[in-house]
Amino acid sequence: MNSAETDVLVVGAGPTGLVLACALRLQGVAVRVVDAASGPATTSRANILHARGAEVLERIGALGDLPQRSLTALTITQYLDGKPAVTVRFGDLGPGTTRPALYASQADVEAQLRRRLGELGTDIEWNSAISGSEQNDSGVTTTLTSGDTLRCRWMVGCDGAHSAVRKLAGIAFPGARLTERFLLADVYAEWPVDRSGGHGWPHRDGPLFAVPMREAGRPDDLWRLMAYDPTGSDDAQSTEQIVDRFRQLVPERTGRTDIRITDASWTSVFHVHRRLADTYRDRRVFLAGDAAHIHSPLGGQGIVTGIGDAENLAWKLALVIEGRATTALLDTYEAERRPLATDVLRNTTTATRLQVGDSPFLRFLRRRLLVPIAAIPAVQRRASRVASQLWVTYRQGPLSRGIRSHLGRPPRPGDRIPNLPSRHLDGSRTDLYSQLGKGWVLLLPSHGDAVPFTAIGALLGHNVIALVSEPTTEQRDVRLIRPDAHLAWRGTEPRRLTRWLEHALQCGTATP
Ligand SMILES: Cc1cc2nc3c(=O)[nH]c(=O)nc-3n(C[C@H](O)[C@H](O)[C@H](O)COP(=O)(O)OP(=O)(O)OC[C@H]3O[C@@H](n4cnc5c(N)ncnc54)[C@H](O)[C@@H]3O)c2cc1C
Repeated sequence: MNSAETDVLVVGAGPTGLVLACALRLQGVAVRVVDAASGPATTSRANILHARGAEVLERIGALGDLPQRSLTALTITQYLDGKPAVTVRFGDLGPGTTRPALYASQADVEAQLRRRLGELGTDIEWNSAISGSEQNDSGVTTTLTSGDTLRCRWMVGCDGAHSAVRKLAGIAFPGARLTERFLLADVYAEWPVDRSGGHGWPHRDGPLFAVPMREAGRPDDLWRLMAYDPTGSDDAQSTEQIVDRFRQLVPERTGRTDIRITDASWTSVFHVHRRLADTYRDRRVFLAGDAAHIHSPLGGQGIVTGIGDAENLAWKLALVIEGRATTALLDTYEAERRPLATDVLRNTTTATRLQVGDSPFLRFLRRRLLVPIAAIPAVQRRASRVASQLWVTYRQGPLSRGIRSHLGRPPRPGDRIPNLPSRHLDGSRTDLYSQLGKGWVLLLPSHGDAVPFTAIGALLGHNVIALVSEPTTEQRDVRLIRPDAHLAWRGTEPRRLTRWLEHALQCGTATP
């Protein structure tokens, strides 16, 4: 029986576990990553990475060539009676966004993350399902199905919807099934439909969606087809059966008879569930990503929510492991992230009910109200912003509530800070996001500012760097920015910053 010590055991090498492992390694934490599968998944699964997700990948150095390999087709056209009724544009995310959403397959996103994790010196241990765990005051002992055991100080379950970590910790996962079956197929097809965006055909029997996808080395002929098919059998379906069903459904629901499906790269039958873990923490064990929350795939919020959890938890664990913060800081993870998951569950549930509900009222709503409302530019901007998760703020979280400086003017403590051009103290050019990820940034309005940098460095360790903002940003005060790009503190009296930081690291709250 092997026994090993590590700071953090990450269970599951999906997008959540991979981002967590990269962010921890960047902050100097020893990590092991185990996964039950025999190797990387090759099927696409998720196919949209919203703006916030692309930003997280950029900060941890894992974006690679994803923008070049992916489509940035950011419209969805809704049809009525076979005719285009409205095109919703998801591109307009307002100022401060350098990364639009990408139509990227989950397999590609995971490949970039594995590459980055390899660069950071950590390999994934495949064929390593966890089957047992016990914790005491100093750590967690985990058993793998092979019989091997691992000892770690902290364990994070990023092991998906059926999380063994969650079950072993006895954390309830209440919720409900929302729909009957959906069919999904990634098909190669000759289909003269505009590939600059997605398409949705509402229908009395259920909607059908088509989203263009790209596969390296192939002509642009890959489409994701997804249809609500509530009356079909729940039994396992072969690829042939699902593709045949789409050959029938596409003409029925779209009115188009010009699709010629040649093959499929992945098919699936799924039901939509909505579930949220009762808690994200049991002493030394945490949950993140689908292990903590699942919801409808409509809206593509799964990856972005999971990797946001990972980025939030990573810097807190790093500070506690280095002995710079007490374990009270770790409670802020659930306090900041679970309310967001509650919002995501609510929004995606509403969107799903609107799309698949077949009451006369919902049918009326879809035809007569939603289409004209969706045509309003302000509504489109709002929808883009919600889907992007760029709006996420922890203003109401324990680390931000009650900070008095500049309460009225954004950005407020807890808000996301967009990427900004800035300079090192020696005058060389850089930008905010290339310095975050590995640590904190103290952003100064000008070179000569008297900030207690030594005191802040002593509190945060080597993981803090001072930058000067470009004059064009019109910043007048000192700002401390967390590794996950949220504003920790701002003000013109930096001595207050030291007091706030000491308190936050010890108590996990902004004010006594
Ligand atoms: C049809 C469909 C379409 C979707 N579309 C989108 C989209 O467009 N955009 C989006 O953001 N999201 C989308 N999602 C959701 C997205 O796929 C998930 O939210 C995402 O995969 C969650 O990532 P994760 O890392 O938390 O979990 P997972 O991706 O589920 O990864 C969990 C990992 O844990 C491993 N594991 C499981 N059990 C164990 C164990 N006992 N021991 C060790 N390892 C274990 C698994 O092998 C796996 O590698 C979609 C989902 C579906 C079903």
